[in-house]
Amino acid sequence: MLKPAPRIGLVSLGCPKALVDSERIMTRLRAEGYELAPTSEGADAVIVNTCGFLDSAKAESLEAIGDALAENGKVIVTGCMGKDEKSIRTIHPKVLSVTGPHQYEAVINAVHDAVPPQHEPFVDLVPPEGIRLTPRHYAYLKISEGCNNRCTFCIIPSIRGDLVSRPMNRVLAEAEKLVKAGVRELMVISQDTSAYGVDTRYADVDWKGQTRKSNLLELTSALGDMGVWVRLHYVYPYPSVDHVIPLMAQGKILPYLDIPFQHASPRILKAMKRPANNGKVLDRIKAWRDICPELTIRSTFIVGFPGETEEDFEDMLEWLEQAQLDRVGCFKYEPVEGAVANALPDPVDEETKDERWARFMEHQRQISEQRMARKIGSLQQVIIDEVDEDGAIGRSTGDAPDIDGHVFLNGEVDLKAGDIVTARIEHADDYDLWGELVRS
Ligand code: SF4
Repeated sequence: MLKPAPRIGLVSLGCPKALVDSERIMTRLRAEGYELAPTSEGADAVIVNTCGFLDSAKAESLEAIGDALAENGKVIVTGCMGKDEKSIRTIHPKVLSVTGPHQYEAVINAVHDAVPPQHEPFVDLVPPEGIRLTPRHYAYLKISEGCNNRCTFCIIPSIRGDLVSRPMNRVLAEAEKLVKAGVRELMVISQDTSAYGVDTRYADVDWKGQTRKSNLLELTSALGDMGVWVRLHYVYPYPSVDHVIPLMAQGKILPYLDIPFQHASPRILKAMKRPANNGKVLDRIKAWRDICPELTIRSTFIVGFPGETEEDFEDMLEWLEQAQLDRVGCFKYEPVEGAVANALPDPVDEETKDERWARFMEHQRQISEQRMARKIGSLQQVIIDEVDEDGAIGRSTGDAPDIDGHVFLNGEVDLKAGDIVTARIEHADDYDLWGELVRS
């Protein structure tokens, strides 16, 4: 017999924009199997979408919260008045959560906490791990939204706002669902992964009966306990990263860092306003490799940023020589509408950009070739992505899907996507590896 669906009451106050917010929240809750309760008394929890435009609207919002508390007890407050959490909590300290306008995700999370969703596999259109567009064996795990940096070539903070870290127990619960659904590799993504938890001041959360701090180390450590590959993307070389390198050395998470350095000339990095631009990055990379020699570092760079001189460009090539990065992509600078960098003086002409891009790619190709050649004869863990009549195609721990290389296991037609196997590497080119399966 099906259990009755959880029922959520809604009191929507204020203008049409607030009404649209209410509609979006309820649409999402309906899609998750919740029902809209006609009254607060008959609901499992109540959302009050407040208005904070005029004093009279604030008074009406506070009264509605009081009524919902009296009639139901489980009250989630959102909307314009939610920006002033203190004035709400002073009068109604028992509300479960308070968020501002458009914070749909936070409201949905608060509903999940108050009244967990029920998944009925025979009825629900959406599986508990959500609808994914990636193959079954790997998935992206988003840990935060927005960014506190203000890189001059980027408009993401103006579109998505400042950093908002997802509650760590939510991230871990999502990861668990993905693993239960068959995912063998989790790609941690965000705009600034190393900054995870800065906005919540590394709030304590409860995870499996233990109190954990919401920071990069605790997050990656808990993900590492799930028995799948965990790969970190969009990392900046902040001190928080130093703490996770030992987890890589211990094999808890993959020895892989995707760090978009973008440039190496101090003058250009300053003009770009890049984070972690403290001139000690080479020392840091060396220290990481001392702890975890298998570490793969992938990065992207921009050539032709406004004001980039031949000397700046050569500084970057020299830096690459010293850094010995494993995987590197390069873009020619293009102005993005609304970016501060568009107004910088001394734009680089297209011909010079093309010429620098070609020199950059050839320079890094030689570095990558040498680093790949060092893998010949080594044993590598390989996750299989696809199998065809010629054999299996997978990736090593140093290869993220779509952006890095492949490992070809010719003739291995009995493997299947998601298998994790060991291979002895027999051949390498600039980007890909060829190997032989090591049978245990
Ligand atoms: S480039 Fe990345 S770090 Fe810089 S502002 Fe944009 S999202 Fe933030």
